[in-house]
Amino acid sequence: MNRLAGKVAMVTGAGRGIGAAIALAFAREGAAVALAELDIDTANATAERIRSEVSGARVIAVPTDVTQSAQVKQAVEHIEASIGPLDVLVNNAGINVFCDPLTMTDDDWRRCFAVDLDGVWNGCRAVLPGMVGRGRGSIVNIASTHAFKIIPGCFPYPVAKHGVIGLTRALGIEYAPNHVRVNAIAPGYIETQLTLDWWNAQPDPKAARQATLDLQPMKRIGQPEEVAMTAVFLASDEAPFINASCITVDGGRSALYHD
Ligand code: NDP
Repeated sequence: MNRLAGKVAMVTGAGRGIGAAIALAFAREGAAVALAELDIDTANATAERIRSEVSGARVIAVPTDVTQSAQVKQAVEHIEASIGPLDVLVNNAGINVFCDPLTMTDDDWRRCFAVDLDGVWNGCRAVLPGMVGRGRGSIVNIASTHAFKIIPGCFPYPVAKHGVIGLTRALGIEYAPNHVRVNAIAPGYIETQLTLDWWNAQPDPKAARQATLDLQPMKRIGQPEEVAMTAVFLASDEAPFINASCITVDGGRSALYHD
């Protein structure tokens, strides 16, 4: 239960879903955790839940819009002044923007990239000077299986997620000499509000959910906690030689050609 003892971590988009599960798992493993979240109410509620579940947890909630680089920089300064220099950053905040390429608006394109790629870079840029200066750090970027597989009609989300892998590899190489590791996790279908919203937007939500289940080799959807376990591993000292890599957490779905 002490795999992250003594570490200080920041998780973006930690008010709910995968980010909340990561924040809870980090606190359980002994890290002090900052929840950097757009919706401060969900962040506060999640911070309260973590405090009630993990005795002695050091958790703070910080309002942060990852699309705004100055805000992210300020959040990092606030977190470091409050709970200590950051050892770990998880760039988790992300949104689905699923369009047909030729009818997509410019705004959809920008909205997607602002959160899903700029947001990741803004986080990295804000923490890297400190991590490089201290000669230690682990950054975990939440990508997606859309980072290497394409589903028609989901444009431009996979383009941004491909970018997250490129950013992960480039920064992992740049800062390897400074002992800062940069890795990604590519989740497949995980049961969160994001996924529920997508099913509910389909003409028959129940059938859409069943269709997703039918695609899964394990015949089930992943849980946020299953992504969180991988984030704990990558953030910890158990992964000292894993860098510029991506771990897929999808129950094998992306390896499946067809049934
Ligand atoms: P959710 O929508 O459940 O949670 C995302 C969280 O990020 C929300 O709390 C949301 O806040 C927050 N957020 C959104 N925009 C911003 C922003 N600009 N600044 C700060 N926080 C923001 O999503 P998931 O937990 O499902 O997804 C988390 C990550 O995992 C995303 O990067 C997603 O792309 C990725 N992923 C998810 C998969 C899945 O099946 N669920 C599969 C593959 C990848 P608010 O509620 O205020 O919008």
